[in-house]
Amino acid sequence: MPDSPTINAEPSIERQSTGRRTEDARRDYLARLLSQMPEAIVCFDREWRITFANAEAHRVSRIKPVHLNGKSHWELFPEMVGTQLERTYRAVMQSGVPAHIEYFCKPYDVWLDTHVFPMEDGIAVYFRDITDRKGAELLRDAASNQLMQVLEATTDAVASVDRSGKFTFLNRRARELLAVKGDLIGKNLFEEFPADLEQGGYLYHFNRAMYEGIPGDFEDYYPAPLNMWLSIQVRPSTDGVVIFFRNITERRRAYHELQFQQELLNTVQQTARVATWDIDIATGKATYGPGSYPVFGHPLAELPDLNSFTKIVLPEYVPIIDRLIKTTVATGEMIVVDCPMRAADGSIIWIESRGHAVQVDGVSTRLRGLSIDITDRKHNEDALITSEARYRILADLNPQAIWMGTPDGRITYANQGLLDYLGFTPEDFEGERWLKGFHPDDRASVIEQWSHSVATGLDYDLEARMIRARDGRARWWWIRAQPVRDDHGNILHWLGVNIDIDDRKTFAEMLQQRQEETERQRAELETIYETAPVGLALFDPVEFRYLRVNTRQAETIGLPKDQIIGRRITEIAPLKGLPELFQQVAAGHPVRNHLLEGELSTRPGEHRSWNVSYSPIYDANGHVEAIAAVVLEITNQRKAEAALMQSEKLAAVGRLASSISHEINNPLEAITNLLYLIATSDTLPADVADYVATAQSELSRVCQIATQTLRFHRQAVRASDVTPAELVDAVINLYQGRLANSGITVEATYETDSTLHCFENDIRQVLNNLIANAIDAMRPSGGRLIIRAHDATDHPTDRKGVRITIADTGHGMSPAVRARIFEPFFTTKDLNGTGLGLWISTGIVNRHQGRLTLRSTEHPIHHGTIFSLFLPYEETPEA
Ligand code: ADP
Ligand code: MG
Repeated sequence: MPDSPTINAEPSIERQSTGRRTEDARRDYLARLLSQMPEAIVCFDREWRITFANAEAHRVSRIKPVHLNGKSHWELFPEMVGTQLERTYRAVMQSGVPAHIEYFCKPYDVWLDTHVFPMEDGIAVYFRDITDRKGAELLRDAASNQLMQVLEATTDAVASVDRSGKFTFLNRRARELLAVKGDLIGKNLFEEFPADLEQGGYLYHFNRAMYEGIPGDFEDYYPAPLNMWLSIQVRPSTDGVVIFFRNITERRRAYHELQFQQELLNTVQQTARVATWDIDIATGKATYGPGSYPVFGHPLAELPDLNSFTKIVLPEYVPIIDRLIKTTVATGEMIVVDCPMRAADGSIIWIESRGHAVQVDGVSTRLRGLSIDITDRKHNEDALITSEARYRILADLNPQAIWMGTPDGRITYANQGLLDYLGFTPEDFEGERWLKGFHPDDRASVIEQWSHSVATGLDYDLEARMIRARDGRARWWWIRAQPVRDDHGNILHWLGVNIDIDDRKTFAEMLQQRQEETERQRAELETIYETAPVGLALFDPVEFRYLRVNTRQAETIGLPKDQIIGRRITEIAPLKGLPELFQQVAAGHPVRNHLLEGELSTRPGEHRSWNVSYSPIYDANGHVEAIAAVVLEITNQRKAEAALMQSEKLAAVGRLASSISHEINNPLEAITNLLYLIATSDTLPADVADYVATAQSELSRVCQIATQTLRFHRQAVRASDVTPAELVDAVINLYQGRLANSGITVEATYETDSTLHCFENDIRQVLNNLIANAIDAMRPSGGRLIIRAHDATDHPTDRKGVRITIADTGHGMSPAVRARIFEPFFTTKDLNGTGLGLWISTGIVNRHQGRLTLRSTEHPIHHGTIFSLFLPYEETPEA
């Protein structure tokens, strides 16, 4: 800016010096003075050498004392070369015309206000650091620039008019608004808008602002060419007025619209019985909107302020309303309150009010809103609430668990019973947290099926364990839910009911366990029943037919079970006294350890004995339902007893025979010797000699029998070696008499000389029994007894030994007899047999590692039996 003030120092002072001494003195004085000056002063000679620089120059221009009268300025400060400063210096040096520049010295980052004066021998430069001022100026420029921009951007049109009435400024919006008038800058307001002067308060406001400094606001209509309503604000300024104006044509129209709506609202308020209100927060004064209906049960005039309401609002609602008002005053937010009020006639009416605080500059000044009478609605709601509450109470009282879910599967309600059981709060049903109420093993299926139901809309139905919070027990529940649908079939919500089935379930489980136990016991009893070594049977109590029979009893009877069941006991066991026994039992008298004897129809010819017990079995009514029988066959036992008695007798006879044999042995020996002497006598007549020979032969037989009887009785302790011939001959000898009497011929052939290592007596006992049986089978008609002995191999085991076969042409055996001959006490000879012979023989043969087999036939012509006894060489028999 060229009009900035310059420094005051007068450089011409130096040039006005006179006289040498005084001149020197003045120079010193001047130099000192100059060095104190706040401006920097530098002098250059025509060679651009610095001839003078004061202290400020040293500071500002970095000129040091050594620089003086030395090198040229441009050498010292090459950065100055080519700058505007250099050009100015040189111009002054040349032309002798002073110059002034404001110069930004880049290297030192300073603004310098510089005056350059010509001198006789060069130039003098005065400069001042104006960096601060320059910065402020730039800032001011920037600020006004910004202000300009604000004015340009403002929505208001802005124009300034000077005191002569000329437009000096119009912002963009003003230019736009008044575009039809062209460029107005420099033109006269009153000339440009003459027609308007007569109208409204235009001139009045302008004059007041311009000459009296009073601002004015007004609205006015400007006809063609503007044709618009303007809202105008005139503000006095230092050199005229500033006008802010705005096109309000739209707003004016809106205002009319608003007025129309207001009237409409009035009507509505009347018909809808609405009161609109506006309350001044500071004073509490209430203003009611036009058309407000006196909804409060009192004439509106009786309610001039907020305070007057406290008299009609029911007391308990006063603090509630206070609190709400405080809220909206603080925040400006909409509040809604239903509150009961006492009407002038004493009745209670319900008023719904909604409103909010109107804030100006963040401060709430007014409360605005409306109130309506909702008494009727409230009554309905109350009815609704009470009925809903009633259902809720019913639901909560329900011992079953009741719950509700949203269509997307969230659980939104659980009755008190369910909450108590699970120890849950309603929040515990959020998300899937409720799952933790279930037994861990059931959670997966519970959620899986729930998701399935939610996805498909199908009923939810499962049994799962829910954990009872009280004792941590998991109880079984039956959980069911059904969707409740609207008219279009959309699911509104799910309704669920859980029923505690734990008792039922555990009872069922218990029953199941018990059944299993019973079944197990039954199976056990069945096994015992079947495998018991006694006969067991069950009969009906009327006809005494077999209902059940165990294996042992079936064996005793000798028929398969299915051929026994259904038949009468009297048919199978036609025993004397049996029907009477059964009748007695059927009458309720049990029979214990009764002895029965006789033949069964299935085993004719077999006299048998049984120990029986019969017990009645009662039904629930105390009637005999069945007869249970326990049958112990004691035939063999009785036979054994008989055999024992027999063998006792035999043993006694045996002992007697043995002692007799022993006793007669000596006389026999004497007789033998005597006969020998007689036989050797020469004087013996020939016929006598024949008798003696016969006597000797018969005597030898007697001796033999005697020794053999003794031997039989003696129990061998050790096995001995003996040939088959010796064994067989000894036995045949014993039966010589019987064989001859029975018309039986004996054919014995021995094809082996091998000896057997055996208990001689035992084997003889076997042979004795086989030969005796053969003789029995051939009596009385006689026949042939064929005995053979030969070396042989036992085929199944491949062992070498001797085989002795005893064959007879007797009556043979039926397959039934054949099957049982090795049983102890089995005999077909009634009292003449013991039935022990073959049983004992098998035992002996087994001890010798031998084998006893047979073939038998009842063929009319080729009847007979062959017993085959194999005895191995190698084996050592067991003692
Ligand atoms: P017991 O000779 O005392 O009857 P065993 O045990 O010796 O007893 O024989 C049992 C039964 O075997 C005889 O009762 C008989 O019916 C039958 N038996 C044995 N050997 C023969 C045989 N050689 N011929 C026909 N039946 C025989
Ligand atoms: Mg026998």
